[in-house]
Amino acid sequence: MYKKTVLVTGGGGFIGSHLCERLLNDGCDVICLDNFFTGSKNNIRHLLKNPAFELIRHDITLPISLEVDAIYNLACPASPVHYQHDPVQTARTCILGAMNMLEIARRLHIPVLQASTSEIYGDPKEHPQTENYWGNVNPIGIRSCYDEGKRAAETLFFDYHRQYKFPIKVIRIFNTYGPRMHPHDGRVVSNFIVQALNHQDITIYGDGSQTRSFCYIDDLIEAIVRVMNRTHAAETGPVNLGNPTEFTVLELAEKVIKLTGSKSKIVFKELPQDDPTRRKPDITKARNLIHWEPEVQLEEGLQKTIAYFRETLKKS
Ligand code: NAD
Ligand code: UDP
Repeated sequence: MYKKTVLVTGGGGFIGSHLCERLLNDGCDVICLDNFFTGSKNNIRHLLKNPAFELIRHDITLPISLEVDAIYNLACPASPVHYQHDPVQTARTCILGAMNMLEIARRLHIPVLQASTSEIYGDPKEHPQTENYWGNVNPIGIRSCYDEGKRAAETLFFDYHRQYKFPIKVIRIFNTYGPRMHPHDGRVVSNFIVQALNHQDITIYGDGSQTRSFCYIDDLIEAIVRVMNRTHAAETGPVNLGNPTEFTVLELAEKVIKLTGSKSKIVFKELPQDDPTRRKPDITKARNLIHWEPEVQLEEGLQKTIAYFRETLKKS
């Protein structure tokens, strides 16, 4: 039987490594491409012996020629701390990286999926966010390299699709968490868990009333694969993928303290510029399109993530 070869850019990262694993389990040959800016070989070390798995160290801002049957474009730093570290490189990764992947897809006429983000809605004035909402984004702020970079990438995806007629899939991922998050990437779930396990102060930015909706990694991976495989070739998205249950950041901190049994205290720090006040996906489109519903509730997902970080911190 013909085995599909699938390219996963950013395959050494948090989401990408879980996706590589899933695609291998589904019987694909997987090429993982990563420059390891935020990813880690530890995330994929267990896959390196698998003959169906291949690793390429490469920066997607540079052109590359590969023969594959489908592309998942995930390469991009995702946490504010990391994407603000070298904002010009972030914009290059979003825009030039997208173009380089789209050029491969155009030449081979293959489907390409773009990992877009809820950040394209900015600090949303509509709640919950549907795919029809155009967003409220500061074009010149410290988050813009990522927000506007990802918006430009979406534009490129739709223009390439309209002009060259190959299949695209654009997914907008909302806050996702789970094992293999980088312990120091500054995202709220990993920060709170690492702080709690080390009995350090839990740092809430602002008063903790801002909200996010947290999706467990296994739920997201199922949705990503369904969007690529189960939707009609003409279906482009964008489609929101996330867990619609909304929590304040303060509620998250309290849950993490309870589940870890930590002695940590909560401290309040300055809220970063342009930090979105509320975020919650409307997933009606995903429900209808791929018959998908997140199954893992926050406490269960946090328990699994806490267990992962306990092991990781023991080793470091
Ligand atoms: P991550 O930082 O763990 O993974 C990103 C991977 O991309 C890393 O392995 C990194 O080394 C690699 N990378 C970065 N720049 C690169 C470049 N120029 N060339 C090659 N590789 C490069 O982040 P993640 O959470 O796994 O996010 C994966 C994708 O999903 C990103 O595109 C991100 O924007 C998107 N996303 C994630 C979330 C989330 O909550 N985790 C939410 C919305 C969107
Ligand atoms: N946050 C926080 N303390 C932290 C890290 C983050 O209070 O140690 C807040 C952050 O200001 C934001 C929310 O948690 O309001 C989610 O932050 P994250 O960086 O995880 O993702 P994003 O802002 O991109 O949704």
